[in-house]
Amino acid sequence: VILKNFVNGFLKESDMYLKTDSISLKVEQGSNAVIIKNLYLSCDPYMRNRMTPVDDLNGFPIYPPGSPIEGLGVGKVVESEYPELKKGDLVWGMTGWEEYTFINNPQTLFKIQHTDVPLSYYTGILGMPGISAWAGFYEICAPKKGEYVYISAASGAVGQLVGQFAKLLGCYVVGSAGTKEKVELLKNKFGFDDAFNYKEEHDLNATLKRCFPEGIDIYFENVGGKMLDAVLVNMRVRGRIAACGMISQYNLEQTQGIHNMINVIYKGIRIEGLRAFDYFPQHAKFLEVMLPFVREGKVVYVEDIAEGLENAPGALIGLFSGQNVGKQVVVVARE
Ligand code: NDP
Repeated sequence: VILKNFVNGFLKESDMYLKTDSISLKVEQGSNAVIIKNLYLSCDPYMRNRMTPVDDLNGFPIYPPGSPIEGLGVGKVVESEYPELKKGDLVWGMTGWEEYTFINNPQTLFKIQHTDVPLSYYTGILGMPGISAWAGFYEICAPKKGEYVYISAASGAVGQLVGQFAKLLGCYVVGSAGTKEKVELLKNKFGFDDAFNYKEEHDLNATLKRCFPEGIDIYFENVGGKMLDAVLVNMRVRGRIAACGMISQYNLEQTQGIHNMINVIYKGIRIEGLRAFDYFPQHAKFLEVMLPFVREGKVVYVEDIAEGLENAPGALIGLFSGQNVGKQVVVVARE
């Protein structure tokens, strides 16, 4: 899947195209490189940000038009000159939106040691979104039992986990999402105390007041814009906000201004940005917490699976209209 040109405004199918080519599945001896066969690819909102040439994504390279799109995924090693990986090993990490990917820096890949869980989970609950939820909630939000927690884009890859973590700790948890089906999922599958469809609410400030008469202690921010503005007014003194994402802004040529920032001062609110990649070195520690949650069914995970590379562009675009229900994954091959 190739990016045709830099993108302006909303991402569309015609911004990407499929190309078929043959490549040699050989790595040069002593090169330290590997080739992986891609199995599961992750669709993540930040990928849109890499399609527009901005001055600084702080270390994230912009996608060069004409090249395969890069993203996180799960793959199987088919050739290796890297001593720490051998043919047949399963890995997750940065790869390409293609059937096979030549990886020059295999030290960035994580070898998958636990295969009693679905492999696709390494794009979600056991991968980058999982680490984001874990670090964002437990570390940045510094939660305490009984606190009031609000999560936007709550049924997605990250949000559904934050809500379940907060429930496990004994917090009061409300989430918002964009359809009735997702609201049901939040309440009935993920155990949120309450949930609402933000698309049906005309006054978000009033909605949040209704859901949190005593205010919000913790806001897990996934959408930005009008939602953040309404939350700021409803935060409690010494509230914490984990700024994880602002998906409502990624396709806008001019981002929306925030009007209620003064609440940060009046209420002594702490807002901290989250960068999932900063926590990758803690992946092993994260798995020690997360794997038992998964195995014991303490935390459940909903995925939305698209079949085949040809459906990858549509799956990625769908994130920005809320087409996905749960973590959006693309299956390239199952083994
Ligand atoms: P999701 O699985 O939640 O998919 C995106 C969802 O966002 C959509 O399903 C849609 O759900 C919602 N959405 C789309 N457009 C809008 C809009 N204009 N206003 C409100 N909601 C919208 O994605 P993730 O869980 O993977 O990511 C959630 C957020 O976290 C994103 O902002 C992402 O960039 C960020 N993130 C940041 C990381 C970091 O390191 N800082 C790491 C991982 C994610 P709905 O139907 O509810 O509208």
